[in-house]
Order: sequence, then C-alpha cells, then structure tokens
Amino acid sequence: MKPSSNEEEYFLKHEAELAKKRQAELLENESAKLKSQYYMKCPKDGAPLETIKVGEVSVDRCTSCAGLWLDAGELEAIEAQDGGFLRRLFKPHR
Ligand SMILES: [Zn+2]
Repeated sequence: MKPSSNEEEYFLKHEAELAKKRQAELLENESAKLKSQYYMKCPKDGAPLETIKVGEVSVDRCTSCAGLWLDAGELEAIEAQDGGFLRRLFKPHR
C-alpha cells in the first residue's frame, strides 16, 4: 500500500524533528566537553587555575605563569578595598 502524502509528510516532519534533536544533543555534548577541557585552565598555557584571595576578593591565579583572571565585578571589588590604587594604575589622569 502506497502511503498517502499526509503520512509521508508526517514521517518527514517527524524525522526532521529527530535530526534536529540529535543535532542539539551533539552540540550540548560538545559544549560540555569543551567546558571540561577549558574550565579553570589558563588561556595562555593551559595550566590549572587556583583560587586565591586578594584582600577579601577571590580571584583565579594560574599555577604556572601566576597570571590573574578576574571575573565580572572582581576588579571593581579589589579597587573598592585598595583606596583607588588600581584605578590610578590602569586609568591614569591626563
Ligand atoms: Zn598560565
């Protein structure tokens, strides 16, 4: 028996939805894999980052090159406790 065009349409649509779902799952897996490879690793040399305290603020420091990585708001938090030293260092008066 030849399937009706409605049935064919249904199966094509169903297959397209499955393919879309599989694609989304693959992307999600890839994203999780990348995150596990790069999370808390130094972007310069790939060494692990450790969390240290700068005053009261927790920042991430590379265990190899000692580079510091600040999340959003951390620079401002450090500035707030150092009496404006960093602000003067990075934004000198003209
Ligand atoms: Zn490093």
